[in-house]
This record gives sequence, C-alpha cells and structure tokens, in this order.
Amino acid sequence: MNYTKALNNKIFEIISKASLELKIESYVIGGFVRDLILERDFKKDIDIVAVGNGIELAIKVSELLPRKPKVQVFKNYGTAMLRFEEIDIEFVGARKESYHFESRNPVVENGTLEDDQNRRDFTINALALSLNVSNYGELSDPFDGLSDLKNKIIKTPLNPDITFSDDPLRMLRAIRFANQLDFEIDADSLNSITKNAERIKIISGERIVDELNKILLTDKPSIGFLLLFKTGLLDLILPELTALNQVEEIEGHTHKNNFYHTLEVVDNICPNTDDVWLRWSALLHDIGKAPTKRFNKKQGWTFHGHEFLGGKMAKKIFERLRMPLNHKMKFVQKMVMMSSRPIVLSQETVTDSAVRRLVFDAGEDVENLMTLCEADITTKNPNKFKKYHQNFEIVRKKIVEVEERDSIRNFQPPITGEEIMEIFNLKPSREIGILKEAIKEAILEGEIPNNYDAAYEFMLKKAFKLGLNINTC
Ligand code: ATP
Ligand code: MG
Repeated sequence: MNYTKALNNKIFEIISKASLELKIESYVIGGFVRDLILERDFKKDIDIVAVGNGIELAIKVSELLPRKPKVQVFKNYGTAMLRFEEIDIEFVGARKESYHFESRNPVVENGTLEDDQNRRDFTINALALSLNVSNYGELSDPFDGLSDLKNKIIKTPLNPDITFSDDPLRMLRAIRFANQLDFEIDADSLNSITKNAERIKIISGERIVDELNKILLTDKPSIGFLLLFKTGLLDLILPELTALNQVEEIEGHTHKNNFYHTLEVVDNICPNTDDVWLRWSALLHDIGKAPTKRFNKKQGWTFHGHEFLGGKMAKKIFERLRMPLNHKMKFVQKMVMMSSRPIVLSQETVTDSAVRRLVFDAGEDVENLMTLCEADITTKNPNKFKKYHQNFEIVRKKIVEVEERDSIRNFQPPITGEEIMEIFNLKPSREIGILKEAIKEAILEGEIPNNYDAAYEFMLKKAFKLGLNINTC
C-alpha cells in the first residue's frame, strides 16, 4: 500500500527535497502515521526520522520553506524542531539505544531505520512512511503494526520485559494508548507490565503526571485507571486511591467501595467538563475516606472530616508527583474540601441562606463544585437519583437568584473596617471585627439585603447593643 496521497501536507515534499539534497533518507514515523491510518483526525505533531543527521535535515528544511522558520536545536538529544502552519515538526537522527538498569535515559548511537524502529514502544508506533524519492509514501512496518491497528492491539515490538524494563514510562503509555484509542493490551505485554510495575519508581513525577493527565482527559478514564489498578501501577503511583478499595461489614452494616465509586464519579464528570483539574478533583474527592473510616453502633460507618483531611492529602500528592503547587493545586484542594457541601443541600429542603453560604464559601468555583457534586451521585436507587438531581436543579436556580439579589460570589463587605472605625471613632479593636462579622452573617442569613443602607441601619442597632456611640464631631 502506498500512502502518497495521504501525505498531502506540502511539508512532506519539502522534507523529501531536503533529504535528497543532503543525500540522506528520511521517514515520517510514530503517532502521525498511526493516526493517519486510524483516520483519527486532529492536528498532530509530526515526527521525522533521518538516517543521518536530524539537526542538519531540520536546518535544510527551514531553508527551503518560504518564511524560513526558526529551528530549535536540542543538541543533547540530537533533535531539532520547527513549526510549520501551527504544527510542530520534530527531527531526529535514526538511533540505536541501550539502557542501564537505573535510568530511563539510554546510551545512544547512530543507527539504521530498523534500529530506530526497534527502539519504539509499540508496534503501532513503529510504522514509518518513506519520504525518499525512490519509494515515496511506502509503508515500512517491520512488526506488522498494521494488523495490530486493525485488531486494536497494543503490543511491544520486542520482548515486552525488555521494552518495559528499559523505559518503564512505556507501561503508562501502553495504558494511556489503550484508553485513548480504545485498544486492548496484548496479553504478554499486559503480564509484563504487572511483572515490571515496580520499575515505575525510576520515572519522575512530571512524566507520570503527563500520562495520568492524558488518561484523565479521555472520554472514559476508568478504563485506564482500572488497568493501572490491575497491573499494580496505581498502588505505586497513587496508593491513596487504592486504599479506598475495601468494603467492610460489621454487624450487618457495610459501606460502599469508594474506589469503584470514585472511578464512576470521574467517568460521570467527563461529559460535563474538559478541565483536567476538575477531573483531578473528582479523582481525589474521597481520598480522605480511608484514613477517617470509623464504625460505631449508633451511626454505623462514618468518615468524619474526610473532606478536610482529603484536601490536605491532595496537597501532599501534588508535592510528591511534582505537580504545580499553584492556584491549580489550591483549586483541587478547595473542591475536595467542599465536596460534600452541595450534597447535604441536595438531600434536604434547600433554604436560601444555605445557598448563600455555599456561594460565599465557593466563590468563583461554585459552578465547578456543583458539577463535581452532580457527578458524585452514583446511587443505583432510581428514586433517590431523581430526587438528588432535582434538588441540584433547585440549588442551581437558587444560586442564580441569590446572585442577582445579593452578589455574594465575590463578597465585599458593604461597610469596610475603616468606615466602621470612622463612624464610631474607634481605634483598631475587637468591636470592628464583631460588627463586620455580624453584617456578613445577617446578609448570608437573608436578614438584610447586601447593600450599604441596609447594612448601615443593621450596624447601628448592633452597635447600640455593644454600647458604641456614633462619632458626632
Ligand atoms: P501522541 O502524540 O498522540 O500522544 P505519539 O505516538 O505521537 O502519540 P509521542 O510521545 O509524541 O507519542 O512520541 C512520538 C513517537 O516516539 C511515538 O509514536 C513512538 O514511536 C516514539 N516514542 C515516544 N515515547 C517513547 C518511549 N518512551 N519509548 C519508545 N518510543 C517512544
Ligand atoms: Mg506525538
């Protein structure tokens, strides 16, 4: 089969011309070829392998392009990259790799196309299309990746034990591809992942998280997480999650398996958000439940304070996996800590003041919190399911109403501390805090609307009770 027609981006002709001028062979390889054959069409990075110097080829290609785009050279890796029409095109010289046990960074030497295909992670990622004039568009497929594409199989090109042990990141990539492409991992490769799971310890947190994020961004992340779980990888990466995989029974009382529940929540949230951090929040929302689980005869199983502890655990996970310790982490922590708030609302009669308090505490993130909590409804009882969702609808409507009336979301006290000091001729003191808090409470409780005049009148009454006098000078 010849793929000349599919190579319709004019960059390929230019790379072909540049290779001819430099008298080296070049191929487009990896994800681009795989996705082209799968007809998965979204804008892709393109990987080019040169049997020769990849950096020289990139520079030559740039010279032949109308605007001569800048070539970014990564000398240490022997690679170079340029951007053409919003697509990153990466050039690498064909190489042969050998690995040491302690590191995923191989010793590299120049090699043939075949050597380069041998170092690829999966048969479906080793497919290459020739850009050489003599056989332009011809597929090179030494491991019958085409059949694996057809049969939807992820399989290593060489002995999986060697492929995975050499670079354990490939175990996560196998699972991520299985999830993204809806493929099966070949039995030998899957067994080998289980066998080599411990090797994941040499992989940096950043790399692991890159793959976890990609799994979380699929349509059904539970597929990936279950594979991580069954191979033993999840226990090594996120033991806080696997600790939720338990059901205990005491005196006829059981509790739900919070691990499987969590995966359901993650799947549930996917149609409603593409925000990877909100999806992380779903993944971590119950992690505080394993360490806080208690049993007592009166209440049965309880998880008191699991939200607060869960928030603290989320931060530790971010630190351990070298995730950003910025507002994203704060957001996930806040979602975990508040994850039960709307649930409580959805189970009882929804009062305005409870909604006002929710908006006050959640601020800008109130919609995200609602999305998380709706995904958290996994009850199999259809009546309860319906009731909780209806109540959430009421909460959502009330949020809008309360917002229109009282703009609680970015609550600014209608009367500032400075004003209070001036009105009552006070120095910084306890009374100011008391008055401010009382005004805020009155607004949240709905005793007064959120405006200056109402707050002023309320404050005067409160101040009178405290024995304060208005400054008359
Ligand atoms: P996508 O970009 O959609 O995630 P991809 O297959 O293009 O998928 P990249 O990470 O962009 O993945 O890598 C490009 C190619 O480089 C892969 O197709 C594969 O051939 C090779 N590759 C990447 N990472 C590894 C690895 N850890 N071990 C072996 N080969 C790899
Ligand atoms: Mg790619």
